[in-house]
Amino acid sequence: MRKSLIAGNWKMYKTPKESVEFVKGLKGAIKTYSDRDVLVCPPFTSLVPVADVLKGTSIKLGAQNVFFEDEGAFTGEISPKMLKEIGVEYVICGHSERRNIFGETDEIINKKVKKTVSVGMTAILCVGEKLEERENGETFNVIKRQVEKCLDGIKETEGIVIAYEPVWAIGTGKNATPQQAEEVHSFIRGIIERHYGKNSAEDIIILYGGSVKPENIDSLMAQKNLDGALVGGASLKLDSFLRIVDYR
Ligand code: PEP
Repeated sequence: MRKSLIAGNWKMYKTPKESVEFVKGLKGAIKTYSDRDVLVCPPFTSLVPVADVLKGTSIKLGAQNVFFEDEGAFTGEISPKMLKEIGVEYVICGHSERRNIFGETDEIINKKVKKTVSVGMTAILCVGEKLEERENGETFNVIKRQVEKCLDGIKETEGIVIAYEPVWAIGTGKNATPQQAEEVHSFIRGIIERHYGKNSAEDIIILYGGSVKPENIDSLMAQKNLDGALVGGASLKLDSFLRIVDYR
C-alpha cells in the first residue's frame, strides 16, 4: 500500500524568520497521520533553521534544487552531500520553473536525480507538458520522453517520486481536472511498469501539482493513481496547507 505525500514547494518565498514561524505553526497544529507523509521545501537559506524546528517531528524537509557534483568550483551551487548533512530527505528535481526559466534539460535533470538518489535522498522528479503541447495532442509523448530521459541509467525506482505538473496549471489557478490528472498518472505508472516491473509500478508515488487548493484536493486525491500533491502557492499559508494535508 502506497503512503501518500503532501509536499509544499515554497519557491522563492519566506525569509528564514518567516520560515521558522511557519513551521512552528505547522508543528503545533498538524494532526498525526499514518497514511501520509508531509514535506516542506523552503528556500536554501531557510533549510538549517527549519531543520532545527522540525527535529523530532514527522514533518519531512526537502530542497527545491541541487547540483550534481559533490563539491568543486561551481559558484552558487549546492551539493547533495551538503543537503543531506543538514537533514534534507527530499530534493525537487526538474521543476518546470527550473526547466523553463533556468534552461534545465532532461539530461541535466537526469544527473541531478542520479546524484540525489546516490547519497540516499529521495528525488521528486517533475514532469509536465506545456499548454501548446497539450493542445497539439503531444501530452503523452512529452511525458514519456521526460520520464524516460530523466530516469535514464537509473536501475531501480526506490528513492524516486514522480510529480506530474502540467505547466499550464502551475501558479495559474487552473488545475487539471481529476480525470485529466488520473489519465496521465496512470500512463506514467505504465511507463514505470514497462521499465522496472509491476512491483515498482505499484510502489512508486506519483504526485499531482498545479493549482492544488483546499477546494480541489479531495477530488484529486480520490483518483486511484494519484498519491499526493506538490503544492506551490497554497502551501505558503498555514490554514490552506493544513487543509490540503488533511484531505479526506
Ligand atoms: C509548484 O510550485 O510545483 C506548483 C504546483 O505551484 P502552484 O501550486 O502554485 O500551482
